[in-house]
Amino acid sequence: MATSPLNLAELEPVALEKTLAELGAPAFHGRQIFAWIHRRGVTRFEAMTDLPAGLRQALAERFAIYTPQLERVDQSTDGTTKFLLRLADDRRIESVYIPDTPAQTFCISTQVGCAMGCAFCLTGKMGLVRNLTAGEIVGQVRVLAHHTGLAGIAFNIVLMGMGEPLHNYDATMQALRILADPRGLGVHPRRVTLSTVGLIPALERLATEPLMPNLAISLHATTDPARTALVPLNRRYDLEALLDACRRFPVRRRARITFEYVLLAGVNDTPDDARRLVRLLDGIRAKVNLLPLNEAPGIPFRRPDDARVNAFAKILADKGVRVLVRRSRGRDIRAACGQLIVEGGRKSAAQQLADRMAPAADAAPR
Ligand code: SF4
Repeated sequence: MATSPLNLAELEPVALEKTLAELGAPAFHGRQIFAWIHRRGVTRFEAMTDLPAGLRQALAERFAIYTPQLERVDQSTDGTTKFLLRLADDRRIESVYIPDTPAQTFCISTQVGCAMGCAFCLTGKMGLVRNLTAGEIVGQVRVLAHHTGLAGIAFNIVLMGMGEPLHNYDATMQALRILADPRGLGVHPRRVTLSTVGLIPALERLATEPLMPNLAISLHATTDPARTALVPLNRRYDLEALLDACRRFPVRRRARITFEYVLLAGVNDTPDDARRLVRLLDGIRAKVNLLPLNEAPGIPFRRPDDARVNAFAKILADKGVRVLVRRSRGRDIRAACGQLIVEGGRKSAAQQLADRMAPAADAAPR
């Protein structure tokens, strides 16, 4: 059976140098190739004009450079832009560009689908289709950076798209190392936020990484029964265990752990929830992002009204908790994670997801 050629976009510089050495070429060509792929976004070896012609030909015969293909781009009136990307095996993933937050931010996927099954999340309804490779995770950033003209300019990355990044640990960390390398896009981990629902063993492993991103915890509830109903993983790693792991997490000086809290009307938005949240975060350098639900057709939850959201935020702020109410972005382009794929799937991408999706689809932001 024919095997696919090795994708050089997957490799860190040291591995690229080793690959070049195996071809009998000097190691520094590996660093040049890394810069061509990741800094300049080149996908053809023949365009790498500072490499000898013979080497370019040898590379083209043995290797490939895969980049996710743009299938669809939707731009919201607020500037938020959603990208539907097709992978080499025709799976589809979503990435989002969120401008002026005040930074420029790319929201990136780490898996096709997700195994975590959160009750308010459309991606969770797909189940896990497969992990993304490091090259596919980085490839999204390359596509978005070049499409938005931000390559070479500072931008932030949030791993909050499709998938649970800590459930695809090795590829996610390899992607962060490739992104951080100054010969490529040079995105320092301080500009990257990894969002997790709380896979504690992986969180503890993350705490030992030399290149550590900022941490965001998708909390969403203040009691175990309520959180288990929204985030089934809570059955295995409950609130107490999760928050203890956060207390042990080595947060950088002047940094904070972000706690994401999707506000669902009548579910987790009461004054009692707000007061419990204050108590839960005691002893943690925390900030809270309140995300009033980004409603979409089929979602079994409602967005609370502004008065309710403000009252919740005020209880936190009055107790000295740093809190930010996030505006919903891209509502007119269905920017909720997984929404394009599943809605599209009802018509055209059904083949990809039909055997993975629950019959009824609901949706929400990650
Ligand atoms: S919210 Fe995140 S972890 Fe939960 S199902 Fe959706 S993508 Fe997975």
